[in-house]
Amino acid sequence: MKQSKLLIQTLRETPKDADVVSQQLMMRSGMILKLAAGIYDYLPLAYRSIRKFEAIVREELERDGCQELLMPTVQPAELWQESGRWAFYGKELLRFKDRKGGDFCLGPTHEEVITDIVRRSVRSYKQLPMNLFQIQGKFRDEIRPRFGLMRGREFIMKDAYSFHTDDADADREYWVMFNAYKRIFSRLGVKFRPVEADSGAIGGSFTHEFHVLAGSGEDAILSCDACEYASNIEKTEAPVEAAPSSGQKELLKEHFYTPGILGQVEQAAAMKDADHNGMSLTQTSVFFLYRATLADESTKLVGAVLRGDHDVNPVKVKNVIGAMELELMPLDEAEVFTGAKSGFMGPVGLKNVTMVVDRSLEGMSGLTCGANRTDYHHFGLDPARDLPGCLFADIRMAKEGDACTRCGKGHYQAFRGIEVGQVFKLGLKYSKSMGCTFLDAEGKEWPMVMGCYGIGITRTVAAVIEQNYDADGIIWPWPVAPYQVHLLNLDPGNAEVNTMANQLEKELEREGFEVLHDDREGLSPGAKFKDADLLGFPLRLMVGAKGLKEGVVELRDRRTKEVMKLKPEALVAEVSAARDRMMLALEAAGGR
Ligand code: ATP
Ligand code: MG
Repeated sequence: MKQSKLLIQTLRETPKDADVVSQQLMMRSGMILKLAAGIYDYLPLAYRSIRKFEAIVREELERDGCQELLMPTVQPAELWQESGRWAFYGKELLRFKDRKGGDFCLGPTHEEVITDIVRRSVRSYKQLPMNLFQIQGKFRDEIRPRFGLMRGREFIMKDAYSFHTDDADADREYWVMFNAYKRIFSRLGVKFRPVEADSGAIGGSFTHEFHVLAGSGEDAILSCDACEYASNIEKTEAPVEAAPSSGQKELLKEHFYTPGILGQVEQAAAMKDADHNGMSLTQTSVFFLYRATLADESTKLVGAVLRGDHDVNPVKVKNVIGAMELELMPLDEAEVFTGAKSGFMGPVGLKNVTMVVDRSLEGMSGLTCGANRTDYHHFGLDPARDLPGCLFADIRMAKEGDACTRCGKGHYQAFRGIEVGQVFKLGLKYSKSMGCTFLDAEGKEWPMVMGCYGIGITRTVAAVIEQNYDADGIIWPWPVAPYQVHLLNLDPGNAEVNTMANQLEKELEREGFEVLHDDREGLSPGAKFKDADLLGFPLRLMVGAKGLKEGVVELRDRRTKEVMKLKPEALVAEVSAARDRMMLALEAAGGR
């Protein structure tokens, strides 16, 4: 391919609205163009990488017997009403009406459509199990689209769905897909980790996310330094932490007058000033007031009580309650409800609030808490005694350095991750609500057990860049490089150089290598080198008059920057050898 004809516009400057490396480099190297917030054109270079990654995904899934199909992007509301998600999906679901007034949405995911296909096409246990996948554009009206392809509103996803006669078979397929994902991400040579993730409050379901490790990742991951346990912080089990009690047995109401104090640290300091046993943060408590929406669409108020030095994990609170949604009560409402300003709200005496207390406070007493009167705190809180009917559960955010709850030996280490894929055992959620059933050998009807498995195709391509770049540009790993060899014609005015460059381009292509030939005129070699580094194909081949005079061309490795002088006839063998070297290094680098 001649670069003079390629649809590409490289930028010298980093675009102002690009916040992460992959977005900056993809925009600078002319791979993507922003059409609207979170909506990008995938230009030829980007689309080549995307298609290569899609091919890897297809190959690994087909190896495990998955069948590819393609579902419509536009989905009728009726299906979503059947599953119950039309009311719940919120604003990410872009809804619209057709000319006849019918309700539709743009597919953010396809559980409803695939369940409809299978319930209409599969009757017998003999046809199961079945795993169906598609690679397709999804639309989610994300509240804050950002970071280029990492969090777009329109993006490409691979989504697979499996159907089974029983739980055990669904579990088996879950691990088949888990291993397929490991192969897929290993083939990119990226450092990744599968981590346990939150599956909401649906019984019988469990899930892992696959994260590419990168400082720019939006997710926090904790993993044990001694055992295999790794999880999204939303889900990480927090150890119970004991702390000495202040010794205050009775609940002394409105005992502390602490005007103007807002945070726990100030609270503890003020108590200390008052010289009450040298109160520490662990002897204070924090309180949060939430409104939860349940599956039947009713709402209830939920209070969360934790030790003063602990952070609340709202995802855990939501799961303890079995809620579909959980939102912090807006401050003005909470002030009216409790009768106190922020900093002085507390759990004691509130009516019609389900109280959830972190398990580190089980058996604890002598705590301070807001008195629900501005400027006052109670002293001597004993949750089990003073909050009748409260639930004790793990609702705190685990943190780096906490003892691992699985092995008890190690401690958590923190990482940032980009979620590139997820495997999810769904159970009966969709098959029951939508009537997706099969007949067993006795002719008895059962709902199918389902699993679903997603990979963010465009997000993964961006994540690969987040792990593979330097100050000059992208460093593509061989398997998803848009082209493998960047052939730079350094003297396009010179007939001998042109002939050699064209000949080498053809030879390499004949051997199956993908070559972008920079045949552009009127550019200095320096300018071509700069562009080549920015585009970052694994090998750069330089053909110029000076070299040809000595009978050589030069081959440069983008990652190591090593340059080799070669006789043109030795080129193909050397490019093959370089490819083999790079693939070996990639295998060694990939995985954990
Ligand atoms: P996130 O938590 O990042 O919003 P999700 O858990 O909602 O993602 P899934 O429903 O699991 O996403 O979708 C499967 C995959 O699709 C994700 O693992 C991710 O790689 C990709 N993906 C999801 N949302 C986006 C997005 N807005 N832009 C690009 N890729 C996305
Ligand atoms: Mg996910």
